Amino acid sequence: MKLSSNRPGLLAGLAAIVLLAAGCQSMQPAGTSPAANASANAAPFPLTKDEQAAMTPQQALAELRDGNARFVAGQPRVRDYSMEVKASAGGQYPLAVVLSCIDSRQPMEIILDQGIGNIFSTREAGNVLDDDVLGGIEFACKVSGAKLIAVIGHSNCGAIKGAVDNVELGNLTGLLARIKPAVDQVPDDGSPRTSKNAAFVDKVAEANVRLVMQQIRERSPILRDMLDHGQIALVGGMYDLTTGQVHFYDN
Ligand SMILES: [Zn+2]
Repeated sequence: MKLSSNRPGLLAGLAAIVLLAAGCQSMQPAGTSPAANASANAAPFPLTKDEQAAMTPQQALAELRDGNARFVAGQPRVRDYSMEVKASAGGQYPLAVVLSCIDSRQPMEIILDQGIGNIFSTREAGNVLDDDVLGGIEFACKVSGAKLIAVIGHSNCGAIKGAVDNVELGNLTGLLARIKPAVDQVPDDGSPRTSKNAAFVDKVAEANVRLVMQQIRERSPILRDMLDHGQIALVGGMYDLTTGQVHFYDN
């Protein structure tokens, strides 16, 4: 084989290295080295057992807020995934469990800038709650020490639209039935109650998040007890597909 026949591959490899280097630099805030940026970030990642134990539910929520702010600003933490894999291999001590939709545009680890080992992520179309998901949330909090339950819906949600339009399709019919009570909870203001009304769809999505939060409290004595004793907190929120921002509900 002639050396020249390898040249295109060699050049492509060099180009990839240059692009990778450029990509790494673009992740840093202007004027900061990766080390400086890492030290500027408060929480070490992934969390250790002691760090998880010392964290309050309010600090966990603040970390998720800050992570989303970094994501929106285009300044996520400079990460070494290989290091995060090694550091978390012996055990996991996540700060939160997040219930969200399966929508491909809502990957919670990325939009909350949490990397590997810091959040349990449980996903169902329309972020609905069933017994299995609830069991997973109980595991996350009671067994694994997560401090916060976050239920995060999103704008323009297909599952919400399906429930609004009374779509019937295979097993989806039963799933959408879980969202119907949220549809009924949105007051009639005279505007169309169809999926073509984006404002109505987003109102149903918010009602659905609040309904799921209520269901978590009502259906899990374990979690209700932890909530009542301040060991964990429960928060809802909405992810905006157009801005990348998570709006956490204050109440
Ligand atoms: Zn969705």
